[in-house]
Amino acid sequence: MQQIAVIGAGTMGNGIAHVFAQNGFKVNLVDVSAPSLEKALQTIEKNLDRQLAKESITAEVKARTLQNITTYTDLATGVKTADLVVEAATENIALKLKIFQDLDAYAPPAAILATNTSSISITRIAAATKRAGKVIGMHFMNPVPVMKLVEIINGYATEKTVSRTIVTLSEKLGKVPCVVNDYPGFIANRILMPMINEAIYSLYEGVANVAEIDTVMKLGMAHPMGPLQLADFIGLDVCLSILNVLHDGFGNPKYAPCPLLVNMVTAGYLGAKSGEGFYRYEKGSKDLIVSERFVK
Ligand code: NAD
Repeated sequence: MQQIAVIGAGTMGNGIAHVFAQNGFKVNLVDVSAPSLEKALQTIEKNLDRQLAKESITAEVKARTLQNITTYTDLATGVKTADLVVEAATENIALKLKIFQDLDAYAPPAAILATNTSSISITRIAAATKRAGKVIGMHFMNPVPVMKLVEIINGYATEKTVSRTIVTLSEKLGKVPCVVNDYPGFIANRILMPMINEAIYSLYEGVANVAEIDTVMKLGMAHPMGPLQLADFIGLDVCLSILNVLHDGFGNPKYAPCPLLVNMVTAGYLGAKSGEGFYRYEKGSKDLIVSERFVK
């Protein structure tokens, strides 16, 4: 396995391309948006500079990593010699089904097609192709160059040899792979999102305030970030959408999103990316300030 194609050059795609390229793989980074590709290369260089400053890589590794990445706006050209494709495009089911039909048509027949989706069924994505046995979930965590875990998700039809190949490959990237089966939310989000939802319910019901909820979980459970801060970091719209996947997929009311979360998303308070969620985010400031809406 030498040639990797990464589809989507956003937050996750640039990190995935970075990690493969740094570990000696040739990476074709594909995005429909040329400015996204440009920005991804800048982000990768900035992150490599950070590693260089910490002396975790040499200048030679930085140069080789950048040389290993080629960008494409045309999917068919970008994937035509790929041994593995990792799709990290926008989280939208119709878009992903179309991309996988195209990957099936343009990638070599033996290529493994992986998706970095957080919540869409791998089995459903695989069913859009004629090679369901070669489709698998490869769920990296954000930020990809820093986070060790790769959640590997076997779809209903994924071949065992494909799963083993992706485990070995993840280890070559210096990651720790965990293999799980394809049910809503897999493992990471099935456990994380109900915890975040419960934290929001605790706030909504007035059990405690933002800082108290986060402090209990940070100091009491040794979580590096409280659940409300983490929700802001992930994006409240993303949290809501994953809770809806769990709620619809299991048909169990225990996954129903808290009405406060629904209200915040409807009103455009999406967390760090919109400037306000449970906390307020000001450009240039790293201070964690509780949103005035939650100050009693
Ligand atoms: P993003 O919005 O930052 O980037 C998505 C990129 O996909 C954009 O650059 C967009 O131009 C590109 N794109 C859209 N349609 C395309 C197409 N047809 N072909 C090629 N590129 C296309 O999104 P992201 O946060 O990087 O998320 C990507 C995937 O990773 C999603 O499936 C998401 O669920 C998953 N994921 C995200 C996180 C996270 O913390 N952001 C964590 C784990 C998994």
